[in-house]
Amino acid sequence: MTLDVAWTVDWVRRTAQVVLENRDYLVELDRQIGDGDHGENLKRGFTAVIAKLDGATEPPGQPADVLKTVATTLMSTVGGAAGPLYGTAYLRAAKVTAVDVLDGPGVLAMLEAGLEGIVARGKAQPGEKTMVDAWTPAVNAAQQAVADGASAEQVLAAAATAAEEGAVATDPLVATKGRASYLGERSAGHRDPGAASSAMVIRAAADAAAAADGAA
Ligand code: ADP
Ligand code: MG
Repeated sequence: MTLDVAWTVDWVRRTAQVVLENRDYLVELDRQIGDGDHGENLKRGFTAVIAKLDGATEPPGQPADVLKTVATTLMSTVGGAAGPLYGTAYLRAAKVTAVDVLDGPGVLAMLEAGLEGIVARGKAQPGEKTMVDAWTPAVNAAQQAVADGASAEQVLAAAATAAEEGAVATDPLVATKGRASYLGERSAGHRDPGAASSAMVIRAAADAAAAADGAA
């Protein structure tokens, strides 16, 4: 199976839904080690993204068109650290998805580009208690899945599970990047909000792929 522009739109709609459902949870996580705005930032951003998609005069032709809309909308509506970080991730992902369909390697390239964008923008290494700690294991798992000959759907499922595990694994870490780093050792014992939201974004991609497969 391959994933097309309809999958991309479904992914973004599912992301918006999960972000709305988890707005309070993400705010609570950010209240522990940041300023408590992460859930609200993403809610505002993805609400604007959905309005953009709904108001578009022409349907998007390729996955890249959708991801570019997400990128520019998040950059202009989400403040704080997460807006530019997610915006850059989606922009880089758009650069490698100007094709009609994505197979396993295509999905891997998209995830790799997203991670590269986050690292280029935020300069965080794995282990610094940021969204990189969800994206890095996701990309590693996706690479392994592609090496094993997995389908696009299987690649995303592996990436989503690894991202969720990566988010949980931020709990004991001490933050050395972003606002949480101001807390030093006191940031340990809390989950990183950006890693938690990143796991939701990647799970939404996997869920949309599973739905596309079921419908095919
Ligand atoms: P702000 O910290 O400006 O209030 P948000 O609360 O929306 O922005 O986002 C915070 C999240 O951004 C953190 O939980 C972390 O995952 C991520 N983050 C912050 N700085 C960086 C960075 N340099 N690299 C990667 N991710 C980062
Ligand atoms: Mg914040």
